[in-house]
Amino acid sequence: MSFKQIDKNIAGDCYTSTEAMDNLTIMCDEFGSRFGGTPGEKQAADFMKQKLESYGLTNVRLEPFEYTGWIRGSAKLEIIEPIQKAIPCISLPHSPPANFTAELYDAGDGAPSIFADDADSMKGKVVLADSQTYPAGSKRWVHRNEKYGRSMLNGAEAFLFMNHYPAYGPATGGIGHNGKGGIIPGISVSYEDGSFLQRLLKRHGKVVLKVVTTDENKPMTSWNVVGDIVGDGLSDQVVMLGSHYDGHDISQGAQDPASGAVSVLETARLLASHAGKLPCTVRFALWGVEEIGLIGSYIFADKHAADMPNYRFYFNMDGAGSVKNKGVNLNEWPEIESLVKDWAQDIAFDFKTNQSVHAHSDHYPFLLKGVPTGGLESVPKSTGGRGYGHTAYDTLDKVSLRELQDAAYLASLVALRVASVPAADWKATHRTPAEVEELLAMPDYTEVAEFEKMIDAHYTKLGL
Ligand SMILES: [Zn+2]
Repeated sequence: MSFKQIDKNIAGDCYTSTEAMDNLTIMCDEFGSRFGGTPGEKQAADFMKQKLESYGLTNVRLEPFEYTGWIRGSAKLEIIEPIQKAIPCISLPHSPPANFTAELYDAGDGAPSIFADDADSMKGKVVLADSQTYPAGSKRWVHRNEKYGRSMLNGAEAFLFMNHYPAYGPATGGIGHNGKGGIIPGISVSYEDGSFLQRLLKRHGKVVLKVVTTDENKPMTSWNVVGDIVGDGLSDQVVMLGSHYDGHDISQGAQDPASGAVSVLETARLLASHAGKLPCTVRFALWGVEEIGLIGSYIFADKHAADMPNYRFYFNMDGAGSVKNKGVNLNEWPEIESLVKDWAQDIAFDFKTNQSVHAHSDHYPFLLKGVPTGGLESVPKSTGGRGYGHTAYDTLDKVSLRELQDAAYLASLVALRVASVPAADWKATHRTPAEVEELLAMPDYTEVAEFEKMIDAHYTKLGL
């Protein structure tokens, strides 16, 4: 069958089915946040396994793994000086429990420069930084965990995250390093309460805070869900599509990640129903506990390291159903850009391509193994930040069926083509470890790479 005919069959099925939204409704309204350690997490994993089996995939399995999980306790933040007032707050996942009194330091939008220029003033203080993703003077996304890490490296007592969006309450997000818990406490407040603290500090020159939290880091089990559409047997090459399924515990995580997880399921359904036997195996993965350190995907890439040379491409679909301007972002693989651009001409879906690298989702463990990677992301890249993502307001009502269909349609057509290209025409060859290091030393990425090295050294020094 020609691509054109398969595309038509996929489009007809995709745009006349409510399956993706039905699945999203169950994932969010029945299983809740699916955060690591909640009952809904395992229910979601079992549900997705059963769905993949019902779509006709083979070798469908749960791959369990052990990790350091986190249980939210109570969190109390009080202003002690110059006034007395309690401020609502939440802990950031992987925060250790806390009980301390310390002065507030205001690091504003948390640009790396302020941590370099004013390091000494942060020692022993609670360092406040807001959730701006592109702080003043920065051309790249500066992640919350980087602001947390730079506070820690400067000797801060704790990190105080402030939402930079009004009216969404406090934003959450994991802290720590490579799945290891945070070392200093991390707590989070709303835009309004953060602004209040900033005004108070500005007017009085000194604000003293008392923080008591009772969170717990402890060993847990999670599950990656994996299933295959087996190839025609002539090639041992694998094309993989994946999204994490765990959301944050304060939210349904409907956009991030569930709109991506159900788009992966829907892509599996469409390809299994209409693509026939493809030269490559197409493997689908739903990752556990991404939100507290990409843990499921790191463990998978390590456990299956010997197979990684067979992985032709990993396509990440984190939150894909809610991505605006859906396109294909390649993680610096110019060798295949023209191929993918040709597909954009060929299929009736107007998408654009981009080349960029970031470390904040499940493609990254594969990228570090040298596997060609990319993702269904906004092209051009959105610099707008998370909005109500990572807050209590990332709920089902924000997602539309049409957006889920678009994600699954685009991913199906791209996966169909990646899995069908003759080996000689697939120009993206795996990077060697030295080439991976070289990539991460490119001018755009050096600042992050250097920061990661410092954090590594800090954890090593502490024997962690
Ligand atoms: Zn996500």
